[in-house]
Amino acid sequence: MEERYDAAVIGTGPAGLSAAITLKIRNKKVILFGSKNLSGKVEKAHEINNYLGLPAISGEELGKRFAEHLQQMEIEITEDQITSIYAMGDYHTLISKTNHSYEASTVILATGVHFGKPYPGEEEFLGKGVSYCATCDAPLYKNKRVAIIGSSPREEAEAEFMAEIASRVYYIPLYKEPVSLGDSVRVVEDRPVSIEGDQKVEKLILKNQKLTVDGVFILRESVSPAQLAPGLAVEQNHVVVNRSMETNLKGFFACGDITGMPYQYIKSAGEGNVAALSAVAYLDQKRRELK
Ligand SMILES: Cc1cc2nc3c(=O)[nH]c(=O)nc-3n(C[C@H](O)[C@H](O)[C@H](O)COP(=O)(O)OP(=O)(O)OC[C@H]3O[C@@H](n4cnc5c(N)ncnc54)[C@H](O)[C@@H]3O)c2cc1C
Repeated sequence: MEERYDAAVIGTGPAGLSAAITLKIRNKKVILFGSKNLSGKVEKAHEINNYLGLPAISGEELGKRFAEHLQQMEIEITEDQITSIYAMGDYHTLISKTNHSYEASTVILATGVHFGKPYPGEEEFLGKGVSYCATCDAPLYKNKRVAIIGSSPREEAEAEFMAEIASRVYYIPLYKEPVSLGDSVRVVEDRPVSIEGDQKVEKLILKNQKLTVDGVFILRESVSPAQLAPGLAVEQNHVVVNRSMETNLKGFFACGDITGMPYQYIKSAGEGNVAALSAVAYLDQKRRELK
């Protein structure tokens, strides 16, 4: 049987970290998903002047302080990207990029704001040739032709894996770092424009050429909230929440940039705290109902 957590926190920016810390203080069993590097948006900031108590701090230094705080509280980071979340009644099942499944009574979504529109055809062909997880869906493409759109060098491992299964793998890197892939993957330096087909995917249209393929894998650092959790109310790429950071789904909270502007560290950290306390209240209420 799966281990059931009280709360799954997704995201290691200020919102997710703040939520995880509050949950730990309130003695809840929490799993925190994200990256040991925490958040690119913290790491990249040159100088931050509006974080309370830490004037003129660099992003790098702020990240270090966050990491020390986690260490002190004995909170581990599970380095796995969550690709889908399903409501199962009184708990949620989370599926990750490495095809692991996790169970939690509550979910706190703190994945940051998702920029970028889907490609034309992406949503139409989702599940009909478009996928966001090579590890999960690779077996469907045995001896078929696939294109992988990679947003960071981390996605190259997925292309190597896919090449063991598919007959042809095209890899389209969207980043400037050099690509390091073996001969089994054909690297295509071009820009994706759209995905076309009839009942299912047939072509990936690039700026300078068309690739005939059976599948298109779009591997982004973050998945849009609507794709992540079916049924989650989203408006213009932001999750709809009330002042308690509750979403329209039971036991499902959101905080930080993903809930809307202003995009700020301290607003994210504050909302993380509120989301965690709302999750605690929800868990306590559930426990009372069971008595
Ligand atoms: C260069 C720069 C400078 C800035 N300067 C300032 C400033 O001076 N003051 C200020 O207040 N704000 C500033 N900001 C804005 C600030 O960075 C954001 O508002 C803040 O980081 C948002 O925090 P967050 O926790 O909501 O999301 P993020 O910090 O974006 O963190 C999201 C986290 O979620 C993880 N994640 C995403 N999807 C998944 C998934 N599916 N599974 C697992 N993990 C996932 C990501 O890896 C990341 O760790 C700056 C931003 C930038 C880019």
